[in-house]
Amino acid sequence: MDKDKRTEIGTLGEFGLIDKISENVQLKHASSLKGIGDDAAVLAPTDLLRVVTTDMLLEGVHFDLSYTPLKHLGFKAVAVNVSDVAAMNAVPTQVTISLGLSNRFSLEAVEELYEGINLAATHYNLDLVGGDTTASRSGLIIGVTAIGEAKKEEISYRSGAKVNDIICATGDLGGAFMGLQVLEREKQVFLSDPKMQPQLEKYSYITGRQLRPDARMDIIHEFRDLHLVPTSMMDISDGLASELFHISRASGVGVAIYEDKLPIDKQTYDTALEFNMDPITCVLNGGEDYELLFTIDQKDFSLLEKHPDIHFIGHVTAQEDGKVLITKSGAAVPLNAQGWQHF
Ligand code: ADP
Ligand code: MG
Repeated sequence: MDKDKRTEIGTLGEFGLIDKISENVQLKHASSLKGIGDDAAVLAPTDLLRVVTTDMLLEGVHFDLSYTPLKHLGFKAVAVNVSDVAAMNAVPTQVTISLGLSNRFSLEAVEELYEGINLAATHYNLDLVGGDTTASRSGLIIGVTAIGEAKKEEISYRSGAKVNDIICATGDLGGAFMGLQVLEREKQVFLSDPKMQPQLEKYSYITGRQLRPDARMDIIHEFRDLHLVPTSMMDISDGLASELFHISRASGVGVAIYEDKLPIDKQTYDTALEFNMDPITCVLNGGEDYELLFTIDQKDFSLLEKHPDIHFIGHVTAQEDGKVLITKSGAAVPLNAQGWQHF
């Protein structure tokens, strides 16, 4: 694509823009009877339950276009919704995309955004079946709704954790948060001296965690293959501690997690120290990792025991035992939704 080309959306009109968007869309699911092009999409019934989730991303609140490529943003907008579908132990099938566009955005910009959206649709095997397009006075707004499906007995709610269940987390945590700190710092450096080039190579893993999160559908498909249903599950979007609070409240249980079991990447750890932050606080409170937090019955432990990307971080306790972090020295420290209190 010619980077300098700029076609005003006004010259195409709303219908011309929607035609452009639908050009690259191919429907893959038999349940998608009608996609873009009528007043509403038409979906066929299946014998599965449907889950529906929606998330909005606002410029200046959820993303900053000075360091976020539009293609990554399009992918991320879909991925964060797929992550919520995954968190129900369901498989995504359709999405709709609603856009609020200010006149800063050209056709080429919208096409770049949709490149990412279409890439995500292919990656997660889902159909883009509709959306809405409107003018915005406050920058870019992206609303995504995702639909997914699962058998009734496969759905994992937040409310199913039982005493003695094992608490598990996928991947590593705190990286997306530290990546954001780096991107914000380099932005400030650039603003104060535009001749300074951002130094990002050293931080490529964590900036990638912030800009290009991948919903853990791989884990959901593995659960299917193993015939394993977590007793409870959430995706980690607001930080591990806050998600543990949700499971604890919904299930009426306590939780104990172990500091030395928390998964952290070396780059996250080193960058936290460089920013004078406590790496454990980053793991507990850093948001946007889009990993999965789930609990399993002890009888299922052997199914996941050798999994390279699932970490057993603690266990479910009785409600009256509270929510605690067991530190490396063996002390039980109360967790709070913002992480943990130092004494
Ligand atoms: P209506 O006026 O009935 O809301 P629209 O003109 O907004 O219809 O939309 C026409 C068709 O294009 C619909 O199928 C709608 O789902 C689809 N659509 C509109 N905007 C988008 C978008 N940003 N992304 C994907 N599909 C869209
Ligand atoms: Mg509309």
